[in-house]
Amino acid sequence: MATDFTKYIATVPDYPEKGVMFRDISPLMADGEAFHAATDEIVAYAQNKGVEMVVGPEARGFIVGCPVAYQMGIGFAPARKEGKLPRPTVKASYDLEYGTSALYLHKDAIKPGQKVLVTDDLLATGGTIGATIQLVEDLGGIVVGTAFLIELKDLHGRDKLKGYDVFSLMTY
Ligand code: AMP
Repeated sequence: MATDFTKYIATVPDYPEKGVMFRDISPLMADGEAFHAATDEIVAYAQNKGVEMVVGPEARGFIVGCPVAYQMGIGFAPARKEGKLPRPTVKASYDLEYGTSALYLHKDAIKPGQKVLVTDDLLATGGTIGATIQLVEDLGGIVVGTAFLIELKDLHGRDKLKGYDVFSLMTY
């Protein structure tokens, strides 16, 4: 029987601010069997796409992407916030509710033509993953899939990802 992963998600109302239902993946990560099963689901999704690299944004994109990369025997590249990567980078800005933010990727993280899976814990408006995709594409990478543990349907992130393949394990 398919695992009900939602029982491993803790929902915290009004965090980090009023009106936000925070979906905490910590209980999923804390349960070895569930974490393994969730990773396997994403690996199964990615398996026939010829993925050569996984890229995930700071910080929970690492938690999702690294075990997937490990399981597939391929590399992982971190998309990080300003001032965290020590060597030459490319930059992509994205809108937040108030203001903007930016993510960076090492220039040599992706080789032109490389097929990339982009991962994060959660798809909300799609801003974070949109910037991550832009970084990969700036370096000539081909985003063959995007994978999330959780998708918040009401925020329509999927609409921002038109033309990309989107996989989510759970939807709210
Ligand atoms: P967005 O850029 O709007 O798609 O937001 C996705 C990013 O923000 C992900 O990296 C999530 O970790 C985080 N995030 C946004 N909304 C939530 C939420 N309701 N619960 C947990 N994390 C969230």
